Order: sequence, then structure tokens, then C-alpha cells
Amino acid sequence: MNNDQFGIKEALSELGLKETNSGTSTGSNWLDSKGDILESLSPVDGNLIGKVSSTTPEQYEEVVKTAQEAFKSWRTVPAPKRGEVVRQIGEELRKYKEPLGKLVSFEMGKSYQEGLGEVQEMIDICDFAVGLSRQLHGLTMHSERPNHRMYEQYHPLGVVGIISAFNFPVAVWSWNTMLAWVCGDVCIWKPSEKTPLCGVACQNIINKVFAENDVPEGVSCLVNGDYQIGELISNDTRVPLVSATGSTRMGKKVGAAVGARLGKSLLELGGNNAIIISKDADLDVAITGALFGAVGTCGQRCTSTRRLIIHSSKYDEVKEKLTGAYKQLKIGNPLDVNNHVGPLIDKDAVNMYLSALDQVKEQGGNIIVEGGVLEGEGYESGCYVKPVIAEASNEMQIVQHETFAPILYIMKYDTIDEAIELQNGVAQGLSSAIMTTHMREMEQFLSQAGSDCGIANVNIGTSGAEIGGAFGGEKETGGGRESGSDAWKVYMRRQTNTINYGTELPLAQGIKFDL
Ligand code: NAD
Repeated sequence: MNNDQFGIKEALSELGLKETNSGTSTGSNWLDSKGDILESLSPVDGNLIGKVSSTTPEQYEEVVKTAQEAFKSWRTVPAPKRGEVVRQIGEELRKYKEPLGKLVSFEMGKSYQEGLGEVQEMIDICDFAVGLSRQLHGLTMHSERPNHRMYEQYHPLGVVGIISAFNFPVAVWSWNTMLAWVCGDVCIWKPSEKTPLCGVACQNIINKVFAENDVPEGVSCLVNGDYQIGELISNDTRVPLVSATGSTRMGKKVGAAVGARLGKSLLELGGNNAIIISKDADLDVAITGALFGAVGTCGQRCTSTRRLIIHSSKYDEVKEKLTGAYKQLKIGNPLDVNNHVGPLIDKDAVNMYLSALDQVKEQGGNIIVEGGVLEGEGYESGCYVKPVIAEASNEMQIVQHETFAPILYIMKYDTIDEAIELQNGVAQGLSSAIMTTHMREMEQFLSQAGSDCGIANVNIGTSGAEIGGAFGGEKETGGGRESGSDAWKVYMRRQTNTINYGTELPLAQGIKFDL
């Protein structure tokens, strides 16, 4: 299918993308393309979309120094004024929603609807951050000493490094950046090497707003490249906070590097998310939730549904309904609204999917909806695969592993205690859900003895979070929280202040020190 009919060329040009783009910027200044070239191939049709030059270590130095300098003035701009700049970014994103949504879809492979949804999330977090810019509250406490006042306040940290994954190529950056900016920090973003054009496009959008507001060079920086540029960030003592989104394998390395220098890290890593379908579930809701969770974004969401834990009395019915629904799925170009499932990101991902299917069989799983790689017209990129359902158990090693592909494991339970134990019986702890109309089951699932995940939903699938809540997970998901609620606190340092307005100097705890 010719992608021009979806307006890809126009979108690239509207976003200011060229055939070859510098991947290094401190704002309006784009550094010369000196580093290795990253070729961005679309998983949709396998063709080259554009090229982006990697950042060299020397260029990285220049970027960090410019960011440090920018911090000195940006931190003194009143927070509501920083919020006003973020408000204008939100307005600009509204204007670019369609071209940027299209680029997200074409470079990453998710449906155009989801691409638009991702840009909408960016707009939502801008709105959230604008309000937040007037609410960076600390507490006031009563001092135990007479004529003393004690309170705490939050100050910006400095340079925030953001390392992001391919599957949310723009939203995750905005969750971090918009909050960090209103908090008074400056940001250096390293997008995934699989989606570098999304990074360049976002920087172009920001630059326009920053220029109109005289925001100093260095508040919004972009670097590009593979894990080596990521390592420069995680080892850099000038970067007090590193927010890293990606695999648990990556997070263990980044967490160790940042921890070794006693920096702060915010880790958003892999999930192994389950939905419990109770005997009291509304099955229409349950099947729809499970279907979107398992095959949406071709199973490439950190919150994708990987396991279904089904009450034994409903097992056969759910299996039959789900199998029927899988037969109706249309797999193909994600820009075409008639398709439900797009491609995997690249051929490496396809190989990991195939290897996982071999392991399912070797480890005793029973595949009930067969997989395979699609070939022929429309599937030339070699990245389109069939979503799979397999009967399996937590004991199988492959079920413990997050395979970033549409493979759904189904299993049975008899008691709610058993279901919760199965749900929690994996190394990851991101998202979880129960489908039930039974109040006791629901409350048990949400109680301290229930789901051990950062996200626990009722009658909603595991994916599709809103920006207003804190987003993140426990255990091998890394423990970080981003986006809404009080996640902003991680981008700031807390300072406790005690002021003596009296004429004496009483010591705390009544300690006497008289001469
Ligand atoms: P990945 O781990 O391969 O790469 C993520 C980013 O980390 C990339 O920018 C990469 O260049 C960088 N990187 C890799 N090794 C590094 C190292 N040693 N030091 C510094 N940087 C390094 O992940 P991916 O394939 O792009 O994305 C998929 C993964 O991301 C999945 O595991 C998914 O669950 C996870 N994810 C998690 C969340 C969340 O919020 N929990 C959100 C999106 C994606």
C-alpha cells in the first residue's frame, strides 16, 4: 500500500524533518551531523523514513555544559511563568496533533488512532503541568522551640536526563519534561534509537515556543544514539536525576550506574500484566478489555495484557469467545483505520516473538491460536505477526519473561486467593486488573493483601492509563512514578527551613549549652 495516501510526506515536512537530520540540539542550535547515522526504517512498509546523526561524546559535553548554564537562569524564572511556556507548548501540540500522531504511527507502527492518543497525552500533561506550576507546595510544621518557624520547600534539581523507549516515542518524554520544566529543571532527552525522528520533530515544536518566549538555549536538549549515549547520561555526576524507560535489563544497568554515584533514578521498566476474570465478571466487558490489552499496539505496551487468569467455571466460555474474537482481527497497515493490529517494531522483535513461541511449546504450553509471520502484499516489511493465545502456567520460564509481542497466556483458578497469588507470582509489578461485579472480590484485590502492582484496575484492562494518576510499577518494573498525582516531587529537592525570630537561641530536644 502506498503510504503517501495517508499523508506521510506532508506530515514529515510539516514537522520540519529532512532526509538527514542532526540529532543533537541545545534548542535553536543544532550541532553538525558528525556522529554515526541512525536510519529510521518504518515497520509499516520497511522503507527508510529519514536519517538522524548520533551525538558524539564531544557534542554530549557541549550539550551538558549548555544545559548547566541554562539551569542558572531557568531556575530563577517564577514557576507560573515557566507554566505559561508549557501552556503554549500544549497549544502548539494541538496544532501539530495530526502530523505528529502520523509520524508516531509510521515510525513506531502503532495505529494512527493510538498515535493521536499519544499526542493527546502530551497535551493533557501540558495542561496538568500548567496547574501544577502554581502548586509546588511544601508543608509548614510547628516548631518545638518558641519564636521559631519551620517549613519545607521544593527547589529544582538541575539537569534531568531522560532515556526513553521506542513504544511510546513522544508521550513518555513529555510526562517527564513538562513536569521537570515547571519544576525549574532543564532536560536532556535521548529517544530510542528506533524512533529518532520523533525526537527531532518534538524538538522542532518546542523550539518555536521557546524562541517566542526567550527561553535560554539549553533548557530543552536532544541527544541521539544507542545505549552508549545512554551510558554517558547515567554515569554523569552533572545529571542529578536520570529518568529511564525501557526493559528491565536496561533498568538494572542504569539503576546501578546512577546508584554508584548516588544520583537519583526514576525507572519505568517492563511489565508482565494479568487480568483476573472472575466467575462474576461481565464477560462482554472482560473480553473487550482482554482483547485490546493483549493485541493493541501489537502487544508492545509496557501495560499490555500478557496473562489471563480465568475462573474455572468460565474458562471454556472465555476461551471460546476470545478465540472467536481473535479470528476477526484484521492485521495490516496501522494507518488504515480498518486494521486492528499493526506490525512489531523490527525484525529483531519478530525473531524474539518466534523464539518465545518455540519456548512455549518446549516448556509444555498448548497453543490454541497459532502464530506466524505474515507475508505477501502489504506485509513487505516482514514485521507483521499473528497474535497468539496459549494455555500455560506461571511455572513456565517463558511466562515469567516479558516478550514484547502479542502472545497471551491463559490459565485457570478456583479461589480468589489463588487468583491473586497467580497474578502476583511474577517478577514484574506494573499493571493488573480484575473483571468482577462481586464487591468482596474487588476489595480483596485492591487491599494490602491483593495486587502487588503499581496499577490495579477493576473492570478495565491493564493498559490505557490516564495522566492524572501516578504511573509506574513495583518489583522489576523499577519502582518509579511519573506523570500525575505527586510524581513531580521526584524532579525537585526538598529543603527544610527553620527560622528563629526570637532573641534567644534555644536548642532542639531541650539541650543546654550555657556558658
Ligand atoms: P530498551 O531497554 O531496549 O531501550 C530503552 C532505552 O534505553 C533506549 O533509549 C536505549 O538506547 C536505552 N538503553 C539501553 N541500554 C542502555 C544502557 N545500558 N544504558 C543507558 N541506556 C540504555 O527498551 P525498548 O525495547 O526501547 O522498549 C521496550 C521496553 O520498555 C519494554 O520492556 C517495556 O515494558 C518498557 N517500557 C516500560 C514503560 C513503563 O512505564 N514501565 C513504558 C514504556 C516501555
